Amino acid sequence: MKGYAMLKIGSSGWIEKDRPACGPLDAICKPLALAVCTSDIHTLWEGAIGERHNMILGHEGCAEVVEVGSLVKDFKPGDRVLVPAITPDWNSLEAQSGYSMHSGGMLAGWKFSNFKDGVFGEFFHVNDADGNLAHLPKEINTVDACMLSDMVPTGFHGAELADVQFGDVVLVIGIGPVGLMSVAGSNLRGASRIIGVGTRKVCVEAARGYGATDFISYKDGPIADQVMEMTGGKGVDKVIIAGGGVETFSEAVKALKPGGKIGNVNYLGSGNMIDIPRAEWGVGMGHKLINGGLMPGGRLRMEKLGALVAAGKLDLSPLSTHVFDGFEHIEEALFLMRDKPAELIKPVVKLSD
Ligand code: NAD
Ligand code: ZN
Repeated sequence: MKGYAMLKIGSSGWIEKDRPACGPLDAICKPLALAVCTSDIHTLWEGAIGERHNMILGHEGCAEVVEVGSLVKDFKPGDRVLVPAITPDWNSLEAQSGYSMHSGGMLAGWKFSNFKDGVFGEFFHVNDADGNLAHLPKEINTVDACMLSDMVPTGFHGAELADVQFGDVVLVIGIGPVGLMSVAGSNLRGASRIIGVGTRKVCVEAARGYGATDFISYKDGPIADQVMEMTGGKGVDKVIIAGGGVETFSEAVKALKPGGKIGNVNYLGSGNMIDIPRAEWGVGMGHKLINGGLMPGGRLRMEKLGALVAAGKLDLSPLSTHVFDGFEHIEEALFLMRDKPAELIKPVVKLSD
């Protein structure tokens, strides 16, 4: 089969590989639509997870099942499925302790285009099919379905990690596709005021649609100073970090009220240390919680998030700004994500409606 692969750090191209084998609990799928992620860019061009040779890229897409193992109960060839980016081993101790995304080791629930070939192939392998796949609701088109692999579950996890509650004032640092879904997740959880950090027109418009009420630019000075000015010196209840680098943590701590919580879903691709400002952290006694996590996968969560979209409570159409027709356009979509023109949110490659 054909796949689009990372040949080595900084170099990518089409390769031929054997079709993956199906174990008793697994499924083999063929993509219906695929999306490129900022993480593919970190992996391929920044070497963020280290060297990989001839590894098929991609972890976002929806698919049709073509083969299932003898022990798979709820899926069969021909089924159309949502595919989460994170596919844990559900019988692991980490999953039993509530941290399935770390099954087998830190972040090891992330398998596609990390420990095995990703989804940018004519076929791809899904471990633990009954635990990881979810049936694709008929109300969701294949392009929107790709946003359920990673953007929705990750952005919403930011709102969970920050523990957004009714009436909270929430600051969302970075309003790319993940941050936009953090805005939407905070809004659904009942935030009153949502301050987005970002200026790109396409993102600001989408963020407003998802419930953001105010905007600031990190280019206009320190984020925390601007937040303090906007909130009469009080700060915000919650911060979600979905963009920037290690330096955003100090701004987040400074912008937070005592007792506030930070949820980070940003992938820190460089830098050694994160600074926590001593005085604004209440000299160690400010009850300001910092929490960061990889998105949870799992069928139940995918079904619930899919149900929100199918019920019309979450419109994913503003995210897919660039849609290509045909598998052969993956390279173009990947390069577009790397170059990030101002009007881009997500590039998607559609193989089928
Ligand atoms: P993105 O690059 O499209 O969005 C990040 C946004 O942050 C951009 O719009 C950028 O302009 C903005 N930004 C840059 N510097 C900033 C700063 N100093 N302050 C505020 N904003 C700043 O990326 P994305 O696809 O939205 O993903 C966001 C992050 O989440 C990435 O690092 C991605 O790798 C990561 N991610 C994490 C998970 C997870 O499970 N935790 C899953 C998927 C992606
Ligand atoms: Zn992704």
